[in-house]
Parts: sequence; C-alpha cells; structure tokens
Amino acid sequence: MSEVKLNRRERYKAELAPFEYLKELHTVDFDSISEGDRYYLQDCGIYTSEIDEDLFALRLRFNAGRITSEELRLIAKIVKDNDLEIVLTARAQMQLHGFESDNVYDVWKELNDNGISTWQTFGDNVRNIVTDAYDGVGKYAEIEVYPYVQQMQEYILNKPRFVGLLPRRISIGVSGNSANVTSFFANDMYMALAEREGVKGFNVYIGGKNTEIAQDADIFLKPEELLNFFIAFVESFHKHGSRGSRSKTRVFHWIELMGMDAVKAFIKEEYEAEFVSAGKLILDKVHFNQVEELADGTYSYCYHTDFARISSEEFNEIAEVALANKAEIRLGIDHHIYLIGLKSPELSFEAKRDTSTVSSCAGSEYCPFSYWSIKDETAYLPLDKINEHNIHVGFSGCLKGCGKHQHADIGIVGLKTSLYGSSEKAARIFLGGEHSYGKSVAKQLFFLIPLDELDKFLRLIIEEYEVSSYENFEAFSKAVLNQYSADFLALWFLAKYDKNIKINIPETTCLKDREEQFAYEKALLVEHFSDREFSKNIEDKLATGVSMITKRLFKDNQTEDKSASHFALSSNRSTTIPGAVR
Ligand code: SF4
Repeated sequence: MSEVKLNRRERYKAELAPFEYLKELHTVDFDSISEGDRYYLQDCGIYTSEIDEDLFALRLRFNAGRITSEELRLIAKIVKDNDLEIVLTARAQMQLHGFESDNVYDVWKELNDNGISTWQTFGDNVRNIVTDAYDGVGKYAEIEVYPYVQQMQEYILNKPRFVGLLPRRISIGVSGNSANVTSFFANDMYMALAEREGVKGFNVYIGGKNTEIAQDADIFLKPEELLNFFIAFVESFHKHGSRGSRSKTRVFHWIELMGMDAVKAFIKEEYEAEFVSAGKLILDKVHFNQVEELADGTYSYCYHTDFARISSEEFNEIAEVALANKAEIRLGIDHHIYLIGLKSPELSFEAKRDTSTVSSCAGSEYCPFSYWSIKDETAYLPLDKINEHNIHVGFSGCLKGCGKHQHADIGIVGLKTSLYGSSEKAARIFLGGEHSYGKSVAKQLFFLIPLDELDKFLRLIIEEYEVSSYENFEAFSKAVLNQYSADFLALWFLAKYDKNIKINIPETTCLKDREEQFAYEKALLVEHFSDREFSKNIEDKLATGVSMITKRLFKDNQTEDKSASHFALSSNRSTTIPGAVR
C-alpha cells in the first residue's frame, strides 16, 4: 500500500501506545484532560460526554452478552450510589452516564477489579464480540459459539498490541443459530452458520457497517477453525488496514480500496492455510416471542427495556428473579435482557413494555450529532402497528446510523430542516431493507416528513403491508417495495397521504430495464393521481413530482422553484459526515 498521511489519532498512537499511557491511568487529572487524553481514555472505556465535556461515561463489555446476577447487582449499586443512568447498546455492552471528574476513575477501577471489563469498548479496538441471545440453548441453536468467542476475546483483551492500535474499530458477530433475533450483517465480520459437504460450520461475511451489508468472502470454516481465522483477520487488518483519512479506515473501506481478493490474500498470509469456499448459509427468519421454549424444555423470558434505558431497580429485580429461578442472564443486541433456563413460562414480574423491535440510537441526551431526543420521540411512531406486525424499525439521530436504520424494515433518521418554514424536526424514511439474509440495506426516500406527521405517514406504509399476503414486512419489501424506485415509492406514499385514498401498490412483473420501469411507474402514478398537479410534472423524472407535492403538503413559506435536491437534508450536522449515505 502506498504511504498515507497518518490521521490525527494515529499520530498520537505513534507517539505513545495506548497501553503504555493507560498504565499511568491513576495519575490522570480528570479535571483537565486534553484531546490526547480523550483518545487514550476511550481505549479503556472512559469517555467524555460530547454534550458536556465535564461529564464522563463508562462503557462496559460483556462477552457474547453473558452477565451474572452478581454483576447486575454491583452495577445497580454503583448506579444508585453515583446517581448514574444506564443505557444498553447494540453490542450487548452497557453505558453508564453521569460521572464527574471526581468519581469516574474510582468506579472504573471498582468495575475492572470485580471482573467487569471496560477495556477496548471504544476507540480503535475489537469491540464486544456478539452472538444471538439464544446461543447454545434455543430451538434454532446448532453450534454454541460462546467458547470460541471467549477464546477470541482472550486473544485481544488487555493485550498491548491490540489496545487502541487497530486502524479502526472491528465489530464481530458470530452465530451458530439457524435463526437469530436480529441480523449480524452490519458487522465488520460475521461468521454465520452454514453447511458444507455435510459438515456444519460457518460462512464468513466481511465489510459490514451501519450503512452497508457485510459481503460474502466465500470462505467456509469448521468450528475449530474460527479462532485462527479470527486471529488472521484481526492481524491482517492491523498490518494492512488504512491509517489515513479517518473516514476511510473501516474494514469496508479496506475492501473497497484493495478489493476482496487482495484482502483475502492478506488474511491468508496470516492464516497460513488454504481457504475452503463457502458452504450453504443456514439462516431462517423467525419471530421470537417474549417467552420462548428452549431446546431443553426450559423457557426464556425477554425483558424489554425502555428503548435501551433501564434503571438500577430493574437490574436488581431481574437479578432477584434470575437467582430465584436459577436462570442465566444475557444481554441481547436488541437492547433487551434475556433470562435463560426458567422452569416455567410464568414469571413473577410483569412485562412493563410492549415494544421490542425498535432499535434506537442514543439521541440528543447523549450524542451531539442528534437534534432529536430519539428514545423519547419513539412516541411519534405507530408503536401499536409496529408491535402487532413485529416490524423491525431502526431509528437514528443522524446518518451515521447507530440505530441501524438501513438494517431494518423501516428506517427513520431524525433530522432538522427549515425547508418547510421555521426550523423543525423532520424525518427521512428508509424502506426495502432485506436485512435478515444480508441481501440489501434499506434505500432512502428523498424527502422529509415533519415530526407531527410521522405517525400518520408510517401507518400508510404499514397499511400497504397489512393488505398484502406476505408473512412479514421484509418479505413484502422484497416482493413489492423493492420492485420500485425510491422516487416512485416516495411519490406513491406522499400522493396517498395527500389524497387520503385506499389503493395498494401493485406487484409488478419483471421490468426489463430502467426505461421500462420509469414508464411503468409514471403510468401508475398518472392512473391513480391524474387529479394532482404533480402528475403533469413527472415527464422526465419523478423527483420533480416529489419536490412539488412535498412543498405543497408541508411547507408554509418557501418559494416554488426549488428543485428536488433541496429536499435533501439541511442543517443537521450529520451532513458533513463523508460517506455516510450510499
Ligand atoms: S446515529 Fe448519529 S446521533 Fe445517533 S448515536 Fe449515532 S452518531 Fe449519535
């Protein structure tokens, strides 16, 4: 690879390795920390709140989401004593918010002294390695991966060579289940259950991220090969991943720059054995209930959090129930907590919340990129319909996509716009994600829906699914929505919203090319909406119609001559994030 100018973070690493810096952590003056301190502290899980730089937070890792009652109780006590807030993450990690300079180090030490690691949960590290909540115990569990995940973590955790020294973070998901609660295709590497010549093992997918699906690397691994491949992957990225522009340093960019074959060649150099080509992926889409019967006849219970927020009292309650029932506790990557191995499907506590399929990012309380209080503003979603149909919703506060809005049935990004007059909250919608099987991310519809209209607009979309014959929203997306262009979908739903009529989007037969598709879509719009002005202005492109109808519906003081491109987002800070949207 040609020489690249090291990015700012790499220059700090070159000057002083994070592990060396962190040996002296007890000497850090938390009242006066520099940019360099902030980078280094992240490598052991301490970070400053970007909302208020005098506040600190800790990130805790739980390998494969496994956590004990004792750990829950200890965390609950710490949270209560220090008046903190708990937020679970989509990597089965936990964030504790609300530390100040005088207590963050003591709690950091107490947690790590008690075996709760905060190391390598942030920064350029292998982040918490995740698997399905039902690993090894569910009806779909074929190969328990926890022992392998333990070996993987052992290889990197607290090792000087790996503390903060990768070119960028690596997220890894491994599942030996034939059906998972949520998809793992957003990981930098996903090892997915597969079969080859009668042997069960794993296919490898690499290069996923919040806005991309991991690609098939055409490699099959037997269970006993997982660790060596993991090592080869991490080592080769360590050696050959780009350390230049920060926006081009993920595994995704490594593949984009070098090509999959070259990346595989680097990994093979470390692996020191021939690769076997991929087997048949074993992956079904299944809906999991709050109570599930497990393979051994015991039960599991999924405790729903408040969109990832949870209190210390709830932690104590869950720990008590787990101890009384001799149940295991696992943190799911869906922000919920699973009790595993219950003797009875009846539990002494009642479910406090219905919603289980909305993945929301941290929002404005914890992240400066968000204009929306994402978790509270889930109240603007049609949660009754989302629950009724188990629709996977990803809700992010910016296009970085921590709410996994492109790996969902319906994706929502809360933005800020002045397109409709005064500056207000408006949402961008993403549809058509075939996330379960890693086929495609959701595509964005180029217009913004004001917050107050969001519930109504999403109901319109869900109604189309309700009258279809498909067993779930993703199947509907594949068969119906994904046959159409993003501009058509935008115009179709906006026109229905405007006219308030009940018509359904027809299933198309295979259209030959873009030209034929455009002609078909245009004819369909004219057939149903000829009484609307936009239908006379879509001769060349549908985006013109989107612009017209959006302005008429939502704007109160804009001029008429703006083009559709103005309906791209405006003032949100996320617009400056390069490569965020593809
Ligand atoms: S999606 Fe954006 S706003 Fe939400 S947590 Fe991530 S970076 Fe912050």
